[in-house]
Amino acid sequence: MPDRRTSLLIADEEDINQRLTEERARLRREAGLAGPRHFQRPRERAFSAEERDNVTILFGGLTWKHEELIKAVFLGNGYKCEMVPVPNVAAFQLGKEYGNNGQCNPTYFTVGNLVQYLQGLEAKGIPRQQILDNYVFFTAGSCGPCRFGMYEAEYRFALQNAGFDGFRVLLFQQNDGIKAASGEPGLKFTVDFGIGMLNALNLGDVMNDLIYQIRPYEVNKGESDRVFPEAMDGLCDTLRNRHVGDLMDRLPPWAGRLLMKKRAVKSWTCALAKVKEHLYGKEYLDSIDACREKLNSIEVDRLRVKPIVKITGEFWAQITEGDGNFHMFEFLEREGAQVLVEPIATWVAYMLHQVQLNGADRKAIDAPYRNPKWFEFGKRFKNEAKYRSKWAGLAAGETMWTYFYHRIADRLGGITHHLVPQAELARLANPFYHQLTRGGEGHLEVGKNVYYTINHLCHMVLALKPFGCMPSSQSDGVQSAVINRYKDMVFLPIETSGEGEVNAHSRVQMALGEAKAKAKLEFEAALKSTGKRLEDIKGYVADHPELRRPFYHVPHRPGIAGTAAQFILHVSDRMDGKVKAAA
Ligand code: SF4
Repeated sequence: MPDRRTSLLIADEEDINQRLTEERARLRREAGLAGPRHFQRPRERAFSAEERDNVTILFGGLTWKHEELIKAVFLGNGYKCEMVPVPNVAAFQLGKEYGNNGQCNPTYFTVGNLVQYLQGLEAKGIPRQQILDNYVFFTAGSCGPCRFGMYEAEYRFALQNAGFDGFRVLLFQQNDGIKAASGEPGLKFTVDFGIGMLNALNLGDVMNDLIYQIRPYEVNKGESDRVFPEAMDGLCDTLRNRHVGDLMDRLPPWAGRLLMKKRAVKSWTCALAKVKEHLYGKEYLDSIDACREKLNSIEVDRLRVKPIVKITGEFWAQITEGDGNFHMFEFLEREGAQVLVEPIATWVAYMLHQVQLNGADRKAIDAPYRNPKWFEFGKRFKNEAKYRSKWAGLAAGETMWTYFYHRIADRLGGITHHLVPQAELARLANPFYHQLTRGGEGHLEVGKNVYYTINHLCHMVLALKPFGCMPSSQSDGVQSAVINRYKDMVFLPIETSGEGEVNAHSRVQMALGEAKAKAKLEFEAALKSTGKRLEDIKGYVADHPELRRPFYHVPHRPGIAGTAAQFILHVSDRMDGKVKAAA
C-alpha cells in the first residue's frame, strides 16, 4: 500500500499531466490542429450504369494504333468514348500552369492535355456543368514508387485549378485491375471488355511495330501511311461490331438445363466459351488475315542500308508520337533510320514478373505460419504450398500473356520481334541494376540496352527519358558503367522536355552517324561474303516480286543487325540454290 507522501506526489504528477494535456489541447485548438487530419481520397460522384448512354469516356496517352483499337472495344461494349489527341507543347504549358511544381515531364503533358481538351469542349459551347456531368476520364494508376503514383491526385489538382472541380477520373490500377476511384459500376469489367482490351493492346503493339518496319523500305512514298489506316479500320470494325454470343443460346435445351443446375459451373463454362470465341473466333482471325494481306500489298526495297535504332526509356516517352518526345520516331525515319519500338506488352510482362520476384522475397513474411519448428511438417508444407501455388499462377499468367502476344505477331506476318523473356532481361541487368529496385521501368532500360547490343539486334540504343524522371535518372547513372563494359555499344540517353527539340535532334544526329557507319560496314562485309555484285542481287530481286513484299520471310542470322545485310545473304543463298523460296 503506498504511504500518504507517495500518494500525494502521484496526485501532483497526475495533476501536472492533466494540466499539460489540457493546455496542449487548447493550443492545438487555437492553431486549428485539433484531431489528426489524415489524407482521404476525395469521394467522387459515382459513374453509374444508368449514365452509360449519356456519359462519354475520354482516354489517351498511347499511339493512334492502340487508341483506335481501344476505342473500338469501348464502343463495342456499349460505351460512348472519345480519344484525347496526342499532347503538344501547349498542353505541357497548361500542365505546368495548373499542376504542382516539380513534376516529371509526362505528368505535365498528360494532365495539361486533359485540361486542354476540356477547355476545347467549353470553347465549342458545351456548358461547364454539362462537361462535368457528361464526361469522365479513364487512365492508368499506380501506388508508385515514382510519380506515377501521384497521377490521379495531379489530375484532380489541375482540374480543380482549371475550374473543372468535380470532373471524374476513373482508374485502371496497375496492381488491382479496373477500379473506378469511387467503385462505380458504370464501367464494368466483363469478359467481353477484358478480352477485347487484351486483343486491342496486342494488335496495337504489333501494328505499331509493323509500320516502323515497313515504312522505311516502302518503294512508293506515302503508301504505308495510306494503307495502314485502311487496315486498321478493318480490325477496328471487327472489334467493335462482332457479336460474341452467350454459350447458353447455342446449347441444346437439355445441356442448358443441365448447366443451370450448377450455377458456378455454368458461369465458368460460359466465360471460357466467350474467351475462346474472342481469341479464336473465325470472324476475328479472318479480319487479322485480311489486314495482313492488305499490308503485304505494300512494295518494299530491303536493299536500303539503314541503321536500326532500338528505342527504350520511360514508358510514356518511348511510346508517344508527338511533342512529348520531340517527334523522335519521325525524325529518325527522316534521317534514314529504321526504328525498333517497344511494345506495351513488355511492360505488362514486366509487372507480372515483378510480382513473382517480390513473392519469392516475401515468402517467409506472407506464409500462413510464421517460423514453424523443424518438426512441424504440416505447417511447413502449407507454407510451401501457398507460395508455390501463387508462384505457379503468376508464371502461368506471364506464359499465357507472352503466348497470346506471339500468336498475334505471327499471324500478322511474323516479322515483328517476340517479347524478350523477363528473366533474361533481369539477368543481364543484374550486375548493374537490381531487378527489385522498383519505379518506372526499373531495370528494363539497362537489361534491354545490353540484350539488344550483345545479340546484335540493333546498331544503336536510344533511351528517351523525361525531364525530372526519378527512375530514369538512376538508370542513366548506371548506364555509364554498362557502356564501359560493352565497348562497341552505341547508346544515347535523351532527356525529353517541353523545350530543346533542336538540341535533342542534333545529339541524336551525331550518334546516328556512328550507327550509320556501323550499318554500312556490316552491309559491305555481308556483300563481300556472298562473292556477288550488288547489281546481280538487285536484278534477282527485280525478277522475283515475292522478295519485294514486306511479309516475305527472311530468316534471321545471328550476329547481323541490319535488314539489308540479312536480306542480301538470304537472296545470295537463294541464287545459289542453297535455300528454297520462302512463302
Ligand atoms: S517513370 Fe519517371 S516520368 Fe514516368 S511517371 Fe515515373 S517519375 Fe514520371
